[in-house]
Amino acid sequence: MVAEHLYLSNSVSEHQIANYRNEFNRAKSRRQHPSSRKTARDKFLENEDFIRNPLMNSRLTNHLTRLSTIHDQCLDRLTKVRARHHNQSADIPGLASEFTACMADFMASRAMTQDFEQHRKVNPVVENDDDPDFSIGQLLLYLICSSHGMSAGFRVVDKLAENEKTQITIHRNPNRVGALLNLWRGFLHLVAGRHVKALSSFRAAKHLCNINLVAQLYCDELSGKAGQFNHDQLLGRFCSYPFSKLYTNQSGETHHCCLAFSPLRAGSIDDQIFDWNSKSSIEFRKSILSGAFTYCDKTSCSFIVGGSLPTREDAAIEDTRIAQIIEQNLVKIEPHGLELVFEHDASCNLACPSCRSELIAHPKIATEQLDQRFPYLLELLSKSKRLSVSGYGDPFFSRHYRKLLKLVCKENSPDLTIDLITNAALLTPQTWASYEHLHSMFGSISVSVDAANRDTYSKVRKLGDFDKLMKNLEFISTLRQRGIFSTFLIQCVVQADNFREMEDFVELGQRLAVDGVIFQRLFPYGVYTDPAKFEKADVFGTSHPEHQDFIGILRSDRLKKQGVSFSTFQDFYDKINPIDYYFDSLTTDENGISAFGWAFIKSGHQVGKVSIVLKKDGHNKRFQFETNPISRPDVADALAQPGLAECGFSLHPSGRRLPFGRYQVGIRVDSPNSSVTDFTNQFIEIARQPKEAIKYSIDLLEGGNDVVVHGWAYLAGGQVPEKIFVVLKSLSNNKRTFFDAEQVSRPDVAEALGRNLVKSGFSFSLNGRHLPAGEYEIGVRLVSGKRRAIRYSGRTVYFAGQPAMVA
Ligand code: SF4
Repeated sequence: MVAEHLYLSNSVSEHQIANYRNEFNRAKSRRQHPSSRKTARDKFLENEDFIRNPLMNSRLTNHLTRLSTIHDQCLDRLTKVRARHHNQSADIPGLASEFTACMADFMASRAMTQDFEQHRKVNPVVENDDDPDFSIGQLLLYLICSSHGMSAGFRVVDKLAENEKTQITIHRNPNRVGALLNLWRGFLHLVAGRHVKALSSFRAAKHLCNINLVAQLYCDELSGKAGQFNHDQLLGRFCSYPFSKLYTNQSGETHHCCLAFSPLRAGSIDDQIFDWNSKSSIEFRKSILSGAFTYCDKTSCSFIVGGSLPTREDAAIEDTRIAQIIEQNLVKIEPHGLELVFEHDASCNLACPSCRSELIAHPKIATEQLDQRFPYLLELLSKSKRLSVSGYGDPFFSRHYRKLLKLVCKENSPDLTIDLITNAALLTPQTWASYEHLHSMFGSISVSVDAANRDTYSKVRKLGDFDKLMKNLEFISTLRQRGIFSTFLIQCVVQADNFREMEDFVELGQRLAVDGVIFQRLFPYGVYTDPAKFEKADVFGTSHPEHQDFIGILRSDRLKKQGVSFSTFQDFYDKINPIDYYFDSLTTDENGISAFGWAFIKSGHQVGKVSIVLKKDGHNKRFQFETNPISRPDVADALAQPGLAECGFSLHPSGRRLPFGRYQVGIRVDSPNSSVTDFTNQFIEIARQPKEAIKYSIDLLEGGNDVVVHGWAYLAGGQVPEKIFVVLKSLSNNKRTFFDAEQVSRPDVAEALGRNLVKSGFSFSLNGRHLPAGEYEIGVRLVSGKRRAIRYSGRTVYFAGQPAMVA
């Protein structure tokens, strides 16, 4: 059904369409049990609307002529393969090899390439959207499926994935081939109605080749359909990137956003003139102003994922230029105050697995080619207020960037601030001194470190020298403390090799007095484009054997420090730690637990009634204690959130009767809109209370010539004793002497404790001359039938012969 539709938008004859329809249906019938036929057909019908979407249509319509020309030729070749294996199961290797041969013919078509190049210059949006390699493969797969059944299509794609030699015929860039295979697989899943599998294939394609807009747009639409993303949440939000940012990439293309977040091409640094208002730039801006965010990857963009995009109103208040853009719906704007991120030279002295699979160092000739772009780049810089160099590659290793930094100065770029992104291996005092003309222009230095110890560093930062790095970091820290630049950041891409050091990494940042520690999620780049290697390194994967340990570390209080950011996985972190809190004090004693601090629900900064929840270690039993609210204007000020002024709490000693043992401490916040409980990494110990066989009180203890003791006592369980003795224990020899006490009525005790303890009182007096001189501890001994119990009070009397003294 889908493939039929594709041809309805082509110039293929009606007769051919009818043939395809019949063949396709026959192929389906052959391979399906009669009882399952209806379901499969229903699935196709369900998908028809989706496949009919403008994206699919426009791509094929744009290739109308080309597809028609090669159509017969391809069909002919594929039919021959089928004829060779008449009445047999499909010849998958044969089909796969014809598939690649057809692809190669198509790509070799000179006319097509010129046409394509021309096309991409004038209409970059369509170029990105309209991936000809994908389209021709899609056509070929249609032909295969229509004659051999759906499973043949899948098996051909699998066959292509097995054979690296064949893949080079499709495209010389292995990532591009991987992306195409996933796009085709996604297309087949889509046709078969398997949206979840289609989404995961399109995501894989996007990760392998993040400039692929086709993959991105499919991901976007499918994740919306699967309920993984609610597009309404972006209505009324704003992002300034397409209005102010420009990224360069290795192919010389420019973009308004990081390629991992948005693959839409804005222009090229090879263009003769700098065009800030290209057709695609305008489309991008329109999509932001309409709230559609069409070209943004909603599952990767850290602002969308972290829910931190400002509202249109807030964005307008922050910046008068943006206010004008929003108010007047401006999409054509003057290039002024641009923020540039240069990523067009990948040269780097390190080969980190999370970034690349081999060392990239451009030879002189390649550098000279890059240098030809200086006029264009310097023009850009003269219009810019910020340059980040480099998002890919190292600014102090790349010959091109080093030369560029020598050319930039206050005179040609008066408003420019330069942010350095570096591995810092070459940022020595000597290097720093050689850029003296830029010292007043440097804004921030951000260092990708990825490790807190030498062994880990050698794994995750291939070719790096940890000791040299530490020296350079200390040097940078000194410059920062002298106020030579304004922000010092260290970064860590979290992966299986280093996640156990996240807490140490935060401490490294504290030692270096950095302004921020940035953790980032591992993406399948570098050596991790290999899915098996990525799975092994990606501790975010729920099936990863160390995933639970990773979650435990994310819960650590040692990560909850000011300046620590979880950038690309903030949403993941917030799900694990939904409440932001801090205990100024958390103590336990014989009266239970006391606490003082602040807490709020992160989502929407909601404050509410705070309770401390204790979960007994190894049990599910929970004990909850409501706290008293207190004002915390200091927290509201520090976090710049006036609504948090009432997020404080205090808990007076509570839980005196808690069973002894270890408890995990949790916090619960009940706000008007939601109730969230979050268990922290903190544990408290409730000590075992000694079993008290006797409850007693000594209300009066007098010394003098006579010792006088008044009080009350009863046996555990509330039993009034038959006899009460006062015990005097000599502290010099532990000798005990027992004296009968007179039992008296204590209705006050019975009333206060709510028990029948009227007869629990006692009264005792003794002339001190009857005992040898020395200090004696006072105790009580109770006797009731066979039960006997004794308890010492810790209070003493002293006899010096006479009179007795109370100590
Ligand atoms: S992907 Fe994110 S950062 Fe990029 S333009 Fe869209 S919203 Fe802005």
